[in-house]
Amino acid sequence: MNPNKTYYADDRLNNCCAYCGGFAETEDHVPSRCFLDKPYPQNMRVVPCCQKCNHDFSIDEEYVSCLIDCMKEKTTNTNLIRRKKTRKTLSHSFGLSERIKSQFRKFADIEICDIEKNRFELVMSKLAFGHLAHENSSINWDSEYKVDMWLLENMSNLLLNDFENPYSGDVVPEVGSNSLSRILVGLDDSAICCDWVMVQNGRYRYCVSPDSTKVKFVIAEYLAVEVSIMSHNV
Ligand SMILES: [Zn+2]
Repeated sequence: MNPNKTYYADDRLNNCCAYCGGFAETEDHVPSRCFLDKPYPQNMRVVPCCQKCNHDFSIDEEYVSCLIDCMKEKTTNTNLIRRKKTRKTLSHSFGLSERIKSQFRKFADIEICDIEKNRFELVMSKLAFGHLAHENSSINWDSEYKVDMWLLENMSNLLLNDFENPYSGDVVPEVGSNSLSRILVGLDDSAICCDWVMVQNGRYRYCVSPDSTKVKFVIAEYLAVEVSIMSHNV
C-alpha cells in the first residue's frame, strides 16, 4: 500500500482492504495477473488489500484461471494447453493439475466439467468488488451478491446482445471516482453510460454500472460473468 496514493475518491478509506475492510498493508491488481498474459498492460489497476486476502484469493484465482483455460481448450493435458502461463502452472503444481483432471469427465462423448462453484463465485465476487472499488469508489465487503456465469459460445443472441450492451442509467458515480472521469469525457446524451474497459485484448474486459449495483466481465473471451449487488451493507 502506497501512503502517498489516493485509491478511492474519498481518502478516508485509503487504508481499508477493498475485499474485507481490514487494514490494507498491500496492493492488489484488478484483475489479478493470473488472468492476463505478459507483457502486462501499463498502468494496471490496483486497490488496497490486506495480506490475508491477497494470499488467500491468489490460490483460488489460480485454480479458476487454469480451469477456464482447460475448459476452453477442452483438455486437461498440460502439453495441449496453448496458454503458456497455464501450461507452466499446471506442470509445476501436481496437486492442482490432478484436482482439475478429477473434475473433468466424459458423458455421451461430451466433455463435462464439475467446477468448484463456491470457489468460482468467491473469485468472481472478488473481481467485482475490486472493480467497484477502483472504478466507482464503491465498497462492498459486507454486501450480499449474486453471481451469474455463462459460456460466451452457449449464449443466445438475445442474451449476448444484452450482455454486450454497456450499462447505463441516470445515477452518476461518486465525485472523484475513475468511472466519473471517463463518463464526463464521452457524455453525449442524457443517460449515463459506462462503457466496457478492455484490460487486455482476448484476455480480460469489464464493465461497471454507474449506480454500482452490477459488474460484468469476460475472461479469456470465453467465460462471461455478471455480479449483482443485492444489498449494500457498508
Ligand atoms: Zn482483506
